[in-house]
Amino acid sequence: MLSVTGREVPVEFVRKPRARRYILRLRPDGVARVTIPRGGSQAEALAFANRQHEWIAKQLLKPRPAGPAEWLLGTEILFRGERCLLGAGAGPHEIRFADQTARVAPGITNLRHAVERQLHRLAVAELVPRTLELAQLHQLRVTRVSVRNQRSRWGSCSARGTISLNWRLIQTPPFVRDYIILHELMHLREMNHSARYWRCVEDVCPDYRVAEAWLKTNHGLLR
Ligand SMILES: [Zn+2]
Repeated sequence: MLSVTGREVPVEFVRKPRARRYILRLRPDGVARVTIPRGGSQAEALAFANRQHEWIAKQLLKPRPAGPAEWLLGTEILFRGERCLLGAGAGPHEIRFADQTARVAPGITNLRHAVERQLHRLAVAELVPRTLELAQLHQLRVTRVSVRNQRSRWGSCSARGTISLNWRLIQTPPFVRDYIILHELMHLREMNHSARYWRCVEDVCPDYRVAEAWLKTNHGLLR
C-alpha cells in the first residue's frame, strides 16, 4: 500500500522477465501496478513507486474516464446466461459468484477487474476446446482459435481459418455461445452473410434466431 496525499493506494507487483526497467501504471480501478524487471526486487519496486508520488497524485486528481461501471459486493452479473450476485468469499481477499471463487487485491472495492480476469481465464479454457469439438463434428478445419477482448463483436473468422471469440461469451447461455461458434465456423463454408450462408447456419443451429434475439436484448454486455 502506498500513501499518496493522504490516500491509500493499493499496489500490485508484476514480474516481467522481459521488462528492462521498473514501470508504474495506475489501473482504472485505482491500483498502482508496478512491473519488476529481471533481477529486480519488490523492495526496489516499492521504492521506485514511492519516488513517483507526484505523478500518482496528479493521476488521482484527473477526472476518471467514463469507463465501465463498478462491480461491488452485491452487484449482479451474468455468468453462463444466469444472473448471479458477487458475494464475499471464505478468505479475506476472496469473492464468490455462482460456483466460482476469485481473488482480489487487498483494499479494492471495485471487483470488476478481478472477476473479469477470472471470467477470461474460464473462457480460454472452455471456448477453445468447444470450438474444436464443433469444428470436428461438422468436419471443418480450424487453424487457430483465439479468445480476445473485443469491444464490439462476439467473434470473427478469417479466410485463413482463424476464429476469434469474445471472452464475454462465458457470460452468455451455452446455446448462445454455441451459436456464435457455429456462426463463425459456417464462415469457413461461406465467407459472407448470403442466403446460402444463413441456410448453412440454420442446418447446424436451428434455433439461431432465438440466440440472435438474446444477444440483441443483452447487447449491453459488449462495451
Ligand atoms: Zn458473420
